[in-house]
Amino acid sequence: MTGKSDIGPILRVALPTPLRRLFDYRSSAKGSAGAGTPCPGEIGPGMRVRVPFGRRHMVGVVMETATQTELSEEKLKTVLEPLDSRPIFDRAMLALLTWAVGYYHHPPGEVLSAALPKALRLGAPLEGMQGTWRLTPAGREAWAQGEPRRAPRQRQLLAELAMQETAASDCLGRGVWREAARALEGRGWIVSVQVPLASAPAIAADAACLLPTRIAGPELNVEQRQATQRIGQSLDAFGAFVLQGITGSGKTEVYLRVTEQVLARGRSALVLVPEIGLTPQLVERFRERFQVGMAVLHSALTDQERLAAWRDAFSGQARIVLGTRSAVFAPLPQLGIIIIDEEHDASFKQHEGGFRYSARDLALVRAQRAGVPVVLGSATPAIETLHNIQTGRYARLRLTRRAVQAAPPRTELIDLRASAHHSGLSTPAVQAMERHLGAGGQVLMFLNRRGYAPTLLCTACGWIAPCSNCDARLTVHLAARRLRCHHCGADSQLPARCPQCGFAVKPVGQGTEKIEETLAAMFPGLPCVRLDRDVVRHRGDMEEAMRRIASGEGRILVGTQMVTKGHDFPNVTLVVVLNADQGLFSTDFRASERLAQTIVQVAGRAGRGERPGEVLIQTEFPAHPLLTGLLCEGYEGFARTALKERREASWPPFSRLAAVRDSAATAEAALTFLAEARALAGPLPGVRLLGPVPAAMARRAGRHHAQLLVESADRGRLHRFLDGWLPQIESLPSARRVRWALDVDPIELF
Ligand code: ADP
Ligand code: ZN
Ligand code: ZN
Repeated sequence: MTGKSDIGPILRVALPTPLRRLFDYRSSAKGSAGAGTPCPGEIGPGMRVRVPFGRRHMVGVVMETATQTELSEEKLKTVLEPLDSRPIFDRAMLALLTWAVGYYHHPPGEVLSAALPKALRLGAPLEGMQGTWRLTPAGREAWAQGEPRRAPRQRQLLAELAMQETAASDCLGRGVWREAARALEGRGWIVSVQVPLASAPAIAADAACLLPTRIAGPELNVEQRQATQRIGQSLDAFGAFVLQGITGSGKTEVYLRVTEQVLARGRSALVLVPEIGLTPQLVERFRERFQVGMAVLHSALTDQERLAAWRDAFSGQARIVLGTRSAVFAPLPQLGIIIIDEEHDASFKQHEGGFRYSARDLALVRAQRAGVPVVLGSATPAIETLHNIQTGRYARLRLTRRAVQAAPPRTELIDLRASAHHSGLSTPAVQAMERHLGAGGQVLMFLNRRGYAPTLLCTACGWIAPCSNCDARLTVHLAARRLRCHHCGADSQLPARCPQCGFAVKPVGQGTEKIEETLAAMFPGLPCVRLDRDVVRHRGDMEEAMRRIASGEGRILVGTQMVTKGHDFPNVTLVVVLNADQGLFSTDFRASERLAQTIVQVAGRAGRGERPGEVLIQTEFPAHPLLTGLLCEGYEGFARTALKERREASWPPFSRLAAVRDSAATAEAALTFLAEARALAGPLPGVRLLGPVPAAMARRAGRHHAQLLVESADRGRLHRFLDGWLPQIESLPSARRVRWALDVDPIELF
């Protein structure tokens, strides 16, 4: 570093503020920089810097450099210190983040906050120290002499170290390598050393002695082979592939094979899964297949664990990153592919807080910027995805057969109005259960409602237990003797008598807890396993439930949405959908899509093993076109109808939507802000404003919610409109009386 630096390049920095702009800083003060930091002249895009901001210091990320600034010389402040010696975001990632800032119309600093683990936002070093092995001179000598002759593993390890200087202990810390390393250390041929994390090389995948694949997978069937080849031929360029196949058709096996090809080229794979799709089973399948480092990222990690996973990804130690939504931002220096499992899943969309992004859509942009393929797997692709196939943007690869069992399950509707039922269980459903249980099968009962009963009623005066914070009823949790609100979390003791008239109260309707109780009485001696958020609360609960099911100890499974994903229940031969009617008549145009996806996913749980499956769907509306269409023509038939309806109503994907949502202490304040926002818009060619309207459940957790929709057939038009409009509504005085957020491509409307 020299003392004669002048203004130097201007750094444009994203800082964690709600302002929709970058902030200009001078790269270095004349001649002064903290000792031990890299030369400030080298600060460049993608690096974190600590800067003065008002009277505080902040950590930000340099997004770009410039030669000019609108700030005067005196106003232009100087970076205090760089925090990274090399970019933590590469060019493709910076391009992705910049795209997200524009597309979601969100302040750059807040976008970065969502993208970075907390520890890194606060300035923690990304390049920590890492233990590895290094060859001693004696070890090098021994290697040259061809030692040790009788221990092939040790010999391989010496060879690896002789070629690479150091090897990642993370990769060598497991199994056979650990023993070899200990033995070599004992002979004084290698020593363990600490090196900066980023410089500890991941073991080269093509090194003959350490292939990425630990075990070979099964022989692929024709469709799997075609899909694998097709993707494999396109590894050098962006391309979007939809891998469409029912549960059990072998999609994961295709992911594994494609990942193998990517690893063999020395590159890494990013695998995104839905929140509850990230099961130990899936992680285990990747771990047992490959012997490269792997990082797992999900919402239950502590800040330290998240930081560690990021470090592994950043340094290249982890060649596979497997994670939920926010893993789309994980740093992978040699990204070779992005795989999104269950791409239709709603949990890929962040629908809370300020920055409401779709990890699936971001993954597509990231893959495009990085020039790598993206694979979208699903049994029930989103309607948008099917539209993208029709218009030729995505290529479809189908898996039409189950990998293990060929016959699809037999599916039937049960008319709840026509058949007698007891606690929500129709006679035909009970008879089918007896048949399947008698034949030694397991049965799965699906009900998307946890708790004992959705309503607590006084039969004398008609009082219904309400939530005092929400426009909702309280759910009875009988075993815990609590009344709980599933919307705001309110929790109180279950009353024995009506607070209004003192008469006895009674739970009405069914939740999973009640179904479990009913079945226990109906099938004594056949243990029931329940799977919902009330029973699966801690790490390990799910594993325990899975163990009971897999061992055959649990014969009957009762579960919510939780049972629809990720897990393999090979002995389940009967699936009963207890109530298909939620979602048939919703005002949200996407409700039917979600219902169809759920039914197909649950039905896919039947008959994955050797025995054929049966699916029964209980409904009060057996003639509803959604249900009959789904039954006669499957998801494809449903999707055709749904696309036609969306085109006629010009809903997405035939138009573009953005929602401005707000909440306030009063209904009036919530609506006033949106009405004023609407008034600011004036007449606009090609853009329609719908609303404001109160949300379907207007009062939640004591606040009143409302929304205003912005719709346009043309994406560019919509975004240009938002660009001009948002700064205006931001400065409305009424904006300060509400909490509001913009949701681009909302997936839930209320
Ligand atoms: P999906 O991801 O579509 O649900 P999986 O890849 O998990 O399907 O496959 C379902 C089951 O079939 C798994 O147990 C898997 O090991 C097995 N399997 C997948 N492909 C094959 C194959 N080609 N030959 C034999 N078994 C297979
Ligand atoms: Zn009463
Ligand atoms: Zn509530």
